[in-house]
Amino acid sequence: MLNEKIALITGASRGIGRATAIKFAENGAFIGINYLSNDDAAKQTLKLVKKAGSDGILLKADVSKPKEVELIVKELVNKKNQVDILINNAGIYLRHSFDKLDFITWNKIINNNLTSCYNVCKIVISHMKQNSKIVFISSQLAFRGSTHGADYATTKAGILGLMRSLALELGEKKINVNAIAPGVIDTDLLSNYSNEMKSKRAKEVPLKRLGTADDIANTCLFLSSNMSNYITGETINVNGGLYIH
Ligand code: NAP
Repeated sequence: MLNEKIALITGASRGIGRATAIKFAENGAFIGINYLSNDDAAKQTLKLVKKAGSDGILLKADVSKPKEVELIVKELVNKKNQVDILINNAGIYLRHSFDKLDFITWNKIINNNLTSCYNVCKIVISHMKQNSKIVFISSQLAFRGSTHGADYATTKAGILGLMRSLALELGEKKINVNAIAPGVIDTDLLSNYSNEMKSKRAKEVPLKRLGTADDIANTCLFLSSNMSNYITGETINVNGGLYIH
């Protein structure tokens, strides 16, 4: 479905990003594997991309820093000339109530989860031709809010504003821009959830399980392929029915 396409996936060393890298590799894409610091995990993603029958490049950079983003995009474009698919996936979540949320942490989360998307789009879009795709990973918390992550929920809602605006601006260039709002997905992001909390959350989901990284990767594949050519400015909720709206 993605033969000969060049994809840049932010936060691809683990979780949803890694699952998407493997899925895209199985479908013929070359993968720019961005990550923050986890070299071993990123190398493992590259190994799995190769095992899936494709190839990729490790692109270590903090996407909240424009200079670092510029360097990795340059590296990818020098090697492959263009970027056909951008998955804005990198993100962190620190569980705390608003009264414990200090100014430094607020800025850190905004920069890491939201300004990072601006940084990457700002540079990548100029290397995109017609029929390219951009996918943002938002969250159900963009709609519901959160009692333990006002900062995080704010970034995920902000992402949707950026996504819709880019969909309007880039339509003329035939670049599709969409988002996915995952529910509770069983990755390292939930490392502060106990097993008890996880099974309690799973019982609340109408489909009676937590989501997997692969559930989100499948939706990324759909939104990055020609199957979704007439969809732009849309958010797909992938949450097992946890939040129906
Ligand atoms: P994860 O397993 O914790 O993986 C996070 C990834 O992001 C890692 O590859 C990490 O790199 C990378 N990363 C973090 N900050 C970065 C930065 N500044 N620059 C570059 N890379 C950075 O998380 P996940 O569950 O796969 O989450 C992926 C996305 O889905 C996030 O945006 C998250 O908010 C969203 N999401 C997740 C859930 C869920 O329940 N899991 C639900 C809704 C939305 P290192 O390995 O180098 O640290």
